[in-house]
Amino acid sequence: MSSTSPERWGVAASPGIAIGPAYVLRRERLVIPEYRIEASQADAEVTRLEKAFTDTTSRLQEIRDGMESTGLVGDIFDSQFLFLKDPTLLEHAKRNIRELSLNAEWALQRELSRLRAVFESIADPYIRERSSDVGFVVRRVLEALMGREPEGLGNAPAGVVVVAEDISPAELAQVTRESIAGFVTESGSRTGHVTIMARSLEIPAVVGAGTGFVRNITDGDPMIVDGRTGRLLVNPGKETVEDYRHRREDYQTLTRQLMRYVDLPAETRDGVSVRMCANVDLLEEVEDARRYGAEGIGLYRTEFMFMNRRDLPNEDEQYLAYKSILEAVAPQSAVIRTLDLGGEKIPSGLDLAEEPNPALGLRGVRMSYSRPEVFRTQLRALLRASAHGRLKILLPMVSNRSEVDFARSVLDRVKTELEAEGIKIDHQVQFGVMIETPAAAMIADLIAPQADFLSIGTNDLLQYTLAVDRTNEQVAYLYEPLHPAHLRLVQQICQAGRRAGIVVGMCGEMAGDPLHCWILLALGIGELSMAPFAIPLLKKILRDSTIAEARALLAEVIQLSSALEIRERVERTMRQRFPVEFERIVATG
Ligand code: PEP
Ligand code: MG
Repeated sequence: MSSTSPERWGVAASPGIAIGPAYVLRRERLVIPEYRIEASQADAEVTRLEKAFTDTTSRLQEIRDGMESTGLVGDIFDSQFLFLKDPTLLEHAKRNIRELSLNAEWALQRELSRLRAVFESIADPYIRERSSDVGFVVRRVLEALMGREPEGLGNAPAGVVVVAEDISPAELAQVTRESIAGFVTESGSRTGHVTIMARSLEIPAVVGAGTGFVRNITDGDPMIVDGRTGRLLVNPGKETVEDYRHRREDYQTLTRQLMRYVDLPAETRDGVSVRMCANVDLLEEVEDARRYGAEGIGLYRTEFMFMNRRDLPNEDEQYLAYKSILEAVAPQSAVIRTLDLGGEKIPSGLDLAEEPNPALGLRGVRMSYSRPEVFRTQLRALLRASAHGRLKILLPMVSNRSEVDFARSVLDRVKTELEAEGIKIDHQVQFGVMIETPAAAMIADLIAPQADFLSIGTNDLLQYTLAVDRTNEQVAYLYEPLHPAHLRLVQQICQAGRRAGIVVGMCGEMAGDPLHCWILLALGIGELSMAPFAIPLLKKILRDSTIAEARALLAEVIQLSSALEIRERVERTMRQRFPVEFERIVATG
């Protein structure tokens, strides 16, 4: 690209700033040979296909063995092997050879198209990402079949910003934070495997830049990638580059300094502590949580285990998954949420009907109520796993007290059942309720006595309170956590928790935003759960604050009548008190 382009925005995937020349990873389209074979050739084609699978597995194993990092990154890398090891992929492709008389490449490509169609019929972004994982693996097998060398990042020059339609975990495994400055991809989401790897490797990244982004970039184009905000600049002016160099330096220095807070208690100067926990969606993220000083897992969403497949995970499979989480977090506790399926997350295994308004439909505990056998199996698995750590169970999407009573009674029944079977469980398992509908917030006083803790899900509470779809860009400007209606509800929930003598936590996105720290502290939130890397900054802010100043701010803003006024007031105060942090780390673009 020759002229200075306007800025673009993608999804802020991995924090940090990358400045460097573009290195475009252009994937040549594989032209797949397609021809019919004679029945007598089928055995030879099957052997060729099997060999390509075996060769690809050993090539990926070589990359894996040569990787510096293990742990999380290694685990993610290994998850790609699962597609290679899953017999159904190979078996279906073999069937295409034998039954449809297709050559090996065509047979495999046909199976990939079928899998893609299945994945793409699912709205959940996490599942769509798994679709790209299988795509990468199949591409490698196809390359092996066609005798082609896989393209990769092994030869990327030092300090470049990699630009690609997408990047596979195997490709990302070939680079380090020292070898490339960062990357941008057209596709991808915050829960994608490559995104999680980037955060773990501390490589700044923006994903989801949109189709056509790569087409407009030429190798060597100067680029800036702001992984904190999602901002992308191509051919920026000298002054902008200079400005971003300073921002990068500040950011790096400050984030390094912030790591000092990792092991310190999250406590105000006048002794009020707030428990800082991490939200994780995958077992692999538990390591990140620990590294950033989380005091436990505040939210583990179980629905992902139910997606991406035709059948439902049985009790043993679930038990093993929950056990792994609890063992990885031990001796700290993990809040594991029961299924919040339904809405957009519809697994084929449950055979649920399409709904006209899924956000208001059969989701969360409502789905558990309508499919008690699914709920019962999950509770059995959870309770069995409880013997291996410190489990807290959380119930999502409650809007009636009767739903809490229903869940408690199933839980009690399952406990009795397991005891009768002689299975060891932890009798201290806590039972919490998510407050994420305005109805639940308004009757928090009726729910609290039935719960061991409450956890506020602001992502949903806000969308239902303000009637603003959390996924609709057009009304995103109205999605304001500091709206007085939302603040009043949070206040009411905290009061109900206090009266019942139980902890009120928060696990929606509001919890991890340092702007809201004082307000939540003053409201009496006892536990904040957020993306792991947000924890050190929140700890620092808390440790530099007093409850008195936080309460003074709350007393002032609770009198104001508009969301805008409240936001301006809170922002002014927080920026004045924490100028360095808000200027250099939080960044607004
Ligand atoms: C929430 O609603 O705030 C929440 C944490 O749950 P989810 O984002 O999974 O709906
Ligand atoms: Mg929710």
